[in-house]
Amino acid sequence: MFAQFKTLPQLFDFFSNEDVCMSYWEQVRWNGNVTCPHCGSENPYKTNRGYKCKNIECQKKFSSLVGSIFENTKIPLRTWFAAIYLCTNHKKGISSLQLSRDLGIHQKSAWFLLHRIRQTLMEIAPEALGGEGVVVETDTTIVGGKTKTMSKKKRSSFKGDRNAAMANKTAVSAYVERGGNIRFDVVDANENEPDLVRKHVDTGSVLMTDTANAYVAVGKEYAAHESVDHSKDEYVRGHAHTNTIEGAFSHFDRMVIGVYHNISRKHMQAYCNESAYRYNTRKTTQTNRFEDTVMKCSGVRLKYDALIAK
Ligand SMILES: [Zn+2]
Repeated sequence: MFAQFKTLPQLFDFFSNEDVCMSYWEQVRWNGNVTCPHCGSENPYKTNRGYKCKNIECQKKFSSLVGSIFENTKIPLRTWFAAIYLCTNHKKGISSLQLSRDLGIHQKSAWFLLHRIRQTLMEIAPEALGGEGVVVETDTTIVGGKTKTMSKKKRSSFKGDRNAAMANKTAVSAYVERGGNIRFDVVDANENEPDLVRKHVDTGSVLMTDTANAYVAVGKEYAAHESVDHSKDEYVRGHAHTNTIEGAFSHFDRMVIGVYHNISRKHMQAYCNESAYRYNTRKTTQTNRFEDTVMKCSGVRLKYDALIAK
């Protein structure tokens, strides 16, 4: 723990200028062992504007922002840090419009910046959730394109055409350990629920679902499988319920509807990860969550062209 602040005003006091921000970033990234991002050599020369590698075959100059989400940024680190603080600590996230107003940057810059922060929250090679004796609830929901919020004209154009009605919607599956972590996974056209359950939930777990047919066969592969029949108005039967996941979905829905309004299928997983990250770090402090996110910023890149590519 290097950061010493608890509130946004204290953050701005703590990160009083760019030099302070840069040395904080280097401390978090390298913890005293400055390493060349090109070849991995340690102890480079310090230059006026950064470092120069000592490895005779490399000798590249680099700034400590190279090889991180901050590479080539024109936005001051101080602004970045405030954005990371706001994005990871607001319960429902923050829109690019709001962030642009709060921090005095263009909305397009704010949008790109927030996507780069989300990129650091991607889980690389995640382990299955649950384990022996752990209850894992799973369910799938449809996000976006709610017909009730559409204009009458648009809604009537979908009448009887299920494919058209689904066109701007995205199926999202979720897996949550009771008292533990959550994971969301956007369901692609070539994926089915049983395979996703196998991918995300350890077979030693107690699987908890609704009575959808998709879960019947896969449920037999688990230590136990219990379900509640929502179609018969059954929601809780002893410890059999899916209240945890429904709570998480309703929270996710409020984020989508209240803050981000409309999320395209392409970016849905990024917003899912943002929401899951806040859920999974709910027991930590705002400052720890901030610093944990800054630690994830090296080794991750997201170029604008890749972000907007179809
Ligand atoms: Zn090097």
